[in-house]
Amino acid sequence: MQTETKYIFVTGGVMSGLGKGVVSSSIAKLLQLSNQKVSCVKIDPYLNYDAGTMNPIAHGEVFVTDDGGECDMDIGNYERFLNQSIPKTHNITTAQIYSSVIEAERRGEYLGACVQIIPHVTDAIKDRIRNIAKSENLDVLVVECGGTVGDIESLPFLEALRQMRLEEGTSNVVFVHVTLAPSLDVVGEQKTKPTQHSVQELRRIGIQPDLMAVRCSRPLETSAKRKISLFSNVSEKDVFSCHDAQSILMVPQMLYDQGIVDVIFKKFGKIGLVNTSTNWDKWNAIVSSFANLKDSIKIAMVGKYVKLADSYVSVNDALKHAGAKIGRNVIIDWIDSEELNGNIDSLSKYNGIIVPGGFGERGAEGIIKTANFAREKNIPYLGICFGFQLAAVAFGRYVCGLSNANSTEINPNTEYPVIDLLPEQKFIENKGGSLRLGANEIKIENNTLGFKLYKSNTISKRHRHRYEFNQKYLELFNSNGLTFSGYSDNKKRMEILEIPSHRFYLGVQFHPEFSSRPGYPEESFEAFIQASSSI
Ligand code: GLN
Repeated sequence: MQTETKYIFVTGGVMSGLGKGVVSSSIAKLLQLSNQKVSCVKIDPYLNYDAGTMNPIAHGEVFVTDDGGECDMDIGNYERFLNQSIPKTHNITTAQIYSSVIEAERRGEYLGACVQIIPHVTDAIKDRIRNIAKSENLDVLVVECGGTVGDIESLPFLEALRQMRLEEGTSNVVFVHVTLAPSLDVVGEQKTKPTQHSVQELRRIGIQPDLMAVRCSRPLETSAKRKISLFSNVSEKDVFSCHDAQSILMVPQMLYDQGIVDVIFKKFGKIGLVNTSTNWDKWNAIVSSFANLKDSIKIAMVGKYVKLADSYVSVNDALKHAGAKIGRNVIIDWIDSEELNGNIDSLSKYNGIIVPGGFGERGAEGIIKTANFAREKNIPYLGICFGFQLAAVAFGRYVCGLSNANSTEINPNTEYPVIDLLPEQKFIENKGGSLRLGANEIKIENNTLGFKLYKSNTISKRHRHRYEFNQKYLELFNSNGLTFSGYSDNKKRMEILEIPSHRFYLGVQFHPEFSSRPGYPEESFEAFIQASSSI
């Protein structure tokens, strides 16, 4: 039977980066723990078709879904909180909506009408949201609208959400507005004026929030709560404090303790409580595994986009998931590979070295030296995608005697193109959405480190690359002690490299970080952290 889906629309005020994604994921998690079939959608009002062409230093990591979407990093948060795979249709952008409207207009589907933002663009937005709810038969769909209320870009989306409340009925739609209550110094009072203004802005475009989620450093004071309630026209019990927490995984409990589940269910006219037995216990056990960790493990993360912590959020999280699993605290030092030249010995103080994905020439030499240093010094090494490719380059140069071996991405004229373009990539012109993307099957050889980790001859992992190992060098690498233990497409592509004589040296062409979840660390991360914990 088709379920009637309830909608939770999450908007943001005051400024960006408040953690709307965490609030959305936490509410979704609580509803999932209450036995609701739930999922999340992220609206990104920018004009890029997807996040794939955006610089991770400016916008955070590009999260890759199983079905090959290059998505906003919030999709990663949803997956990690809900422990479920989210399809790429759940990341909606202005470009996608406008393209679909323009294509429909070219097909003549609007039958001579003048095509306008209202109703045509807003209809396209509503259709997209309702299709997700319907096709996945959801009880609740949480839709997070990116940006800040007042932005020109997000107006058509907010208008569509406003219309949905009218069409679906007030008992089927709940608006949550996330704002900030700053305090100017440690003892200063929490200021509510920015929140008041952002609610006014929201109401000006016709949206009255039902719930307020207020970010603050310390728990929201009663007086601040009272003011926000009064000025926002939201009752006091519907104003929630989202104060700083030791870990974002603690936010669901924080909101639950303030009664958010009850409030939402009441607004929906539903009866439901967080299932206090198995679901909740399991989640609590996972959350508490991240607290009170002992004996730090120091990991050097050597990469290109280290200036913004969000550029590698899934890698950071995957390392933490692995640490929590074995009760160890993982300290990550982000090291810019460009600044490493001549300073490579500084890496010897780390228990393990990880090189995440990356693109282009800048900083590549530092990464090649890093991969070689880890091999020579027997330091556990995990190379992901670019880190796999440049480990192969380092092995070619320093073990196989291929001087100046390189990836053609870095030097197109190299004499030894150890890493080269995938054949199907040679004639591609458009950069957006044209990499090898999404989950692909990988075969793993018996009696290898790869098999030891995955305990299977077949795995499925997400990809995002244009280059791959050049099979011309396979024999040479093998005879010098590097094994390719995983491959795909009938051995057409190499997927896992390892050096059996090394303590732990693993390179993977895929992105294991995207499938790591709290409580269920991805296998290669777990093994890497395990190996790093023993030195
Ligand atoms: N730049 C490399 C490629 O395109 C690696 C990509 C990555 O690390 N995600 O193949």
